[in-house]
Amino acid sequence: MTVAIANCRRCGRLFNRMGRDICPDCAREEDEKLATIRAYLRQHPLANIYEVANGTDVSYDEIVQFIRDGRLLLRNNPNMVYPCERCGTPTQSGRLCANCAKEMGRALERDMRARDDQGLEANDRGRGKGYYSKS
Ligand SMILES: [Zn+2]
Ligand SMILES: [Zn+2]
Repeated sequence: MTVAIANCRRCGRLFNRMGRDICPDCAREEDEKLATIRAYLRQHPLANIYEVANGTDVSYDEIVQFIRDGRLLLRNNPNMVYPCERCGTPTQSGRLCANCAKEMGRALERDMRARDDQGLEANDRGRGKGYYSKS
């Protein structure tokens, strides 16, 4: 039997890796938190993330992380939304809203095409445009 030692992604402790990248203690803690969140959502399906954080003692960021990782699946919880990392639009899965995900895909395509036929004006006119950060 092979033994793989790794640092826990969460607490940094060395542990005997078995499939997950967090140690058994943290895994148990996360599972408990997830169970608490799910139980809370069953009783309060219309709660938002802040309310869940308040009601469960799990931090807002951790809840968002669970959703992003796909570990907390939202079905009938329309208010469990967090802002898209790019434009701030409320979203319920992943890092980007559906629009941005689509746009990023298109931008990637454009990039690849631009590399093919070096657009002449692109350099001049495109400067300073193209990526919006909200500020
Ligand atoms: Zn740990
Ligand atoms: Zn967006």
